[in-house]
Amino acid sequence: MRLSFHGADRDVTGSCHLVECAGRRFLIDCGLYQGSQELNEENAGGFGFDPAGIDFVLLTHAHLDHCGRLALLAKRGFRGEIITTMATHELARLVMLDAAHLLEEARSNSHRPPHGADDKRAEPLFTLADTLRSLESFKPSAAYGEPIDLAEGIRATFVDAGHILGSASILLELTEAGRSLRLLFSGDLGNAGDRLLLPPAPPPRADVVVIETTYGDRLHKPMDASIDEFYSSISETLGRGGNVIIPTFALERAQELLLVLNQGIEKSRLMPSMQVFLDSPMAISATEIFARHLECLQPEAAGLFRSKRDPLALPGLHFIRERVESVALNNVRGGAIIMAGSGMATGGRVRHHLKHNVSREECSVIFVGFAAKGTLARQIIDGQSPVHILGEDFPVRARIHTLNGFSAHADQAGLLKWHEHTGAARTFLTHGEQNAMQALASRLAKTQVEMPTLNQRFDL
Ligand code: ZN
Repeated sequence: MRLSFHGADRDVTGSCHLVECAGRRFLIDCGLYQGSQELNEENAGGFGFDPAGIDFVLLTHAHLDHCGRLALLAKRGFRGEIITTMATHELARLVMLDAAHLLEEARSNSHRPPHGADDKRAEPLFTLADTLRSLESFKPSAAYGEPIDLAEGIRATFVDAGHILGSASILLELTEAGRSLRLLFSGDLGNAGDRLLLPPAPPPRADVVVIETTYGDRLHKPMDASIDEFYSSISETLGRGGNVIIPTFALERAQELLLVLNQGIEKSRLMPSMQVFLDSPMAISATEIFARHLECLQPEAAGLFRSKRDPLALPGLHFIRERVESVALNNVRGGAIIMAGSGMATGGRVRHHLKHNVSREECSVIFVGFAAKGTLARQIIDGQSPVHILGEDFPVRARIHTLNGFSAHADQAGLLKWHEHTGAARTFLTHGEQNAMQALASRLAKTQVEMPTLNQRFDL
């Protein structure tokens, strides 16, 4: 039995693990590297294995850094099934089609050669056709807690990871040459304070664990304190005539924020007349998927959906699908809460909203999720001013709030508690920056800790 690491290197997000057992080779996730711009080139490089030789893929969840290279895998010869939960299948469809669309759009906007000249523009990493082929190989047959026999000696069980809708940790029960091993992948683990999703389920026992370390060095503020700061920063900003900009991840944070805004109105902490703009076509479609997967939701939110009272609906909520409506928001000088992607402000519509509001001291920017090194979000959070947005420099004068209680990731305490439950004797740390990984490693005393580098291979 062997395990190798082809996605998460230190300081880089992107998850892709290869397992070899009983004559089969399969992947856990096949994510895109995300972070600073240079990493785009790394995505175009080789996988470190032959895609045509992979029998199947198990997908933990629908974030791009976990599913974003599935289309590239198909383009380079993979023809097996992609096994995941139904909710992940539905969300991955949105995410992968959106990524293909952005890639093709970027290419068609790039400098076109004169008529008759060779077109030397770089090929897109993958096309819409590659993406559609990959989506056809999805088999959404995994249900939480129900083992699936994938081959002789390979059984997988998906366990609720509480990170985004449909997300899972995956337990593999492997047998080879009469020897058995329980290998558990955490996937991304959720934050137990989440108001919309159920918390991560207690994990099963395992011999070997591969665990994410996004917040391995930090403790989140309690959720109640984050919600309190959220309400007061909104009220104060709207009170002084500014706008609130919230760079948000489309798949989970946007929906949780709508729920929390709704509760704020019910508790009279927020005015029902406030105007909220959800400027992300993907977040709008994802919001519709939530209503179909009540099995993943907290009982209160699920109950409201069942009684046909949508907990994500607000009196002043506007869904923005079209680009021209998004551009029109540039003329709104105050009184608006604008939620738009991307969450790390590396791309997407939120950059326009930041450009028009970040230098105005009556405005606020509220960050509610993880921001990787090198991203615009991280620069603003770290106090950089001016910041470079869409080709120009802007001084940062708006008030900046970082509410990590809303994080979709477990903090150090959550990771340690989850790990303890597994009782694993050997632990691989992935998916985190160096400091976070070192800090978590120093707290894991009862297990042999490894921090794999890119393409490193281990015998199990
Ligand atoms: Zn994730």
